[in-house]
Amino acid sequence: MRLKDKVAIITGAGRGIGQATAVKFAREGAKVLVCDIKQDWIDDTVALCQAEGGDAMGHIADVRDMKSLEAMVKATVDRWGRVDCLVNNAGIVADAQLKNMTEDQFDSVIDINLKGVYNCTRAVVHKMLEQQSGVILNASSIVGLHGNFGQTNYAASKFGVIGMVKTWARELGRKGIRANAVCPGFIATSILGSIPEKVIGALEDRVPMGRLGKPEEIANTFAFLASDEASYINGAVIEVSGGLTI
Ligand code: NAP
Repeated sequence: MRLKDKVAIITGAGRGIGQATAVKFAREGAKVLVCDIKQDWIDDTVALCQAEGGDAMGHIADVRDMKSLEAMVKATVDRWGRVDCLVNNAGIVADAQLKNMTEDQFDSVIDINLKGVYNCTRAVVHKMLEQQSGVILNASSIVGLHGNFGQTNYAASKFGVIGMVKTWARELGRKGIRANAVCPGFIATSILGSIPEKVIGALEDRVPMGRLGKPEEIANTFAFLASDEASYINGAVIEVSGGLTI
């Protein structure tokens, strides 16, 4: 098992990529703190992890709320004594063309996708520094690399995540802590729910592999990066998109 006895916190783990990541980590032997904002979804993910024979615990925390994140880290350390990996996965979209984008749409995406990543990492970094070890994994996006029509806010947040990852890779590398970003292409989760089927079809046609990605394909990448097999991968930005951007 690739992650035997490693302790991981995964945000936005109630569904989609976060849920698939929690299940994969549990299958690989990790102890998983399932963070999300909805108790029902947390319970679903915890049950799926336990069905894999894994040890998992749920915790409601909003990545915008530092107090709830500090309580989440405390609960993790109280139960398992350490934090080996943080997966900053929680994220939202609120799309509009620049000319129509409201301040609320801009701020909400920045608050969750960018400041939320900062908040969660701040909440765990002291523990990782004390341990002199840890892995900080972050969901960016191909949109953070190339921009996208109607996604000024989202592109800014995901590009910002890459900037923080590279900074943390420099600041924390000598302390035994690695930081990396994963840039998914179009992955079949509810985040694509607002996109009409016709447009999804067109997106699939643009992918050299001819299909959307599966949440499990991003989860597998996070699991590798969290493992000791990735011990020299730091500050990397890894695209997992079926070749969409080539
Ligand atoms: P998803 O299915 O919508 O899952 C995201 C999860 O995060 C949801 O359970 C969501 O809860 C939760 N969340 C939202 N706001 C939160 C907050 N303030 N605090 C804690 N949790 C919160 O999305 P996904 O497709 O799995 O995406 C996961 C990550 O990958 C995101 O960062 C996304 O930007 C990134 N990504 C996805 C794709 C894709 O095509 N799917 C592509 C590139 C990057 P609610 O549903 O209640 O909001």
